[in-house]
Amino acid sequence: MELPFVPYRIKVVEPVRRVSREERAAALAKAGYNVFGLPSSSIYVDLLTDSGTSAMSDAQWGALVQGDEAYAGSRNYYDFEETIRDIFGYRHVIPTHQGRVAENLLFTTRLDKRSVVPNNIHFDTTRANVEHQGALALDCVIDEGLDPTGEHPFKGDMSLAKLAEAFDRYGDRIPFVMITITNNSGGGQPVSLANIREVSAFCHGRGVPLIFDACRFAENAWFIKRREPGYGDRSIKEIAREIFALGDGCTMSAKKDALVNMGGFLCLNDDDWARDITNLLILIEGFRTYGGLAGRDLAAVAQGLREVLDDDYLTYRIGQVRRMGEQMQARGVPILTPVGGHAVYVDARRLLPHLPQSAFPAQAFTCALYLEGGVRGVEIGSLMFAHADPETGRTVHPAMELVRLAVPRRVYTETHLAYVAEVCGRLRECGERLRGLEIVEEAPVLRHFTARLRPLGGGSLIAD
Ligand SMILES: *Cc1c(COP(=O)(O)O)cnc(C)c1O
Repeated sequence: MELPFVPYRIKVVEPVRRVSREERAAALAKAGYNVFGLPSSSIYVDLLTDSGTSAMSDAQWGALVQGDEAYAGSRNYYDFEETIRDIFGYRHVIPTHQGRVAENLLFTTRLDKRSVVPNNIHFDTTRANVEHQGALALDCVIDEGLDPTGEHPFKGDMSLAKLAEAFDRYGDRIPFVMITITNNSGGGQPVSLANIREVSAFCHGRGVPLIFDACRFAENAWFIKRREPGYGDRSIKEIAREIFALGDGCTMSAKKDALVNMGGFLCLNDDDWARDITNLLILIEGFRTYGGLAGRDLAAVAQGLREVLDDDYLTYRIGQVRRMGEQMQARGVPILTPVGGHAVYVDARRLLPHLPQSAFPAQAFTCALYLEGGVRGVEIGSLMFAHADPETGRTVHPAMELVRLAVPRRVYTETHLAYVAEVCGRLRECGERLRGLEIVEEAPVLRHFTARLRPLGGGSLIAD
């Protein structure tokens, strides 16, 4: 067996405590069968998200001490701006405290009730922020991107046919098009440069800007380097630059590929758009040289962006995720393939065919993972996305019922991830003993964060 090259070693550790099954059962009931309600101190391996959960490097921690906390014109802002311009290439660099604020600023200033925004697949906060403006969030990923087992190398690609159809139907109601790299809600699947080039030409042919949701741009670039003909010898940075040169701006959650615990930014070429957004930024986040972040946070983002471009780092990181997926497959757990960049997605419809979508199979598996193994994942299925059809009022379920196991960057060892695969294998053997769930309480938007549920028919989640 060829062992992977691990491009870092451990310098600081965070203790993890052992939690019994009884404690976990009580914690889960108290949380209303919603893992967002669990205290992290009761979790062994936390794969809820790869967002803001990275381990920072010694150089990033060092940069924190060098924060220039000037209200205006912090030297960390200039370094942040220069580092981002060097990779992304856009004229205006606007810091925000996380990605959804970048989205909110863009959507508040550019959308109205008539607007329609196509994307390969909108991430949940992106969709919610578009809909918050009364606008329509349209998903245009290729059909292969909705097939949980097809072996297409770039399942995040946008369908040009679906995009053209959207333009035929909505025309001037489309103020810009977005592409999410990698496609988080579609399984962390990459988008090819060939596709980005085509979408870019299509949009620009109609005078419509192309905006990237760039959260995992470095992971996407790594897949292009490995899978797309002609890019094997190019550096991650060169590929990233080629991607961004095809667009007109981006929103970014620095909590992903900038390897920090908090931060984000928005980049734009258009002076008028940037001016409107900067005015709103000052109202809700802060002055344009800090945007809701401390000077030291800007320094950590800049350093993280330099580190994430390292091919050895990306090879290990994406390899870690893939190896966990392979171990799950070896135990007969159905997962979305090929494995994406930041997470393994368990296909709950195939794993729990006895549960209809109305019984929240992916949420049931998410809860069972915690109950059995102290592992926290997140449901990306009906709890997150089912909604009432505005015309008929009937519930529309999403195409897939997934449980996302997102791997934090530079945090867990191979042993932790092998353990997760083992727990998934054990749960598969529970089969029909695993019960579905029903909602007891829910909020009107983004309900998956706060909803309370209970096992159907009362009693325990896993029948004896
Ligand atoms: C995380 C994420 C966001 C939102 O960023 P936050 O920093 O969590 O606000 C937007 N789009 C995608 C694809 C994401 O993964």
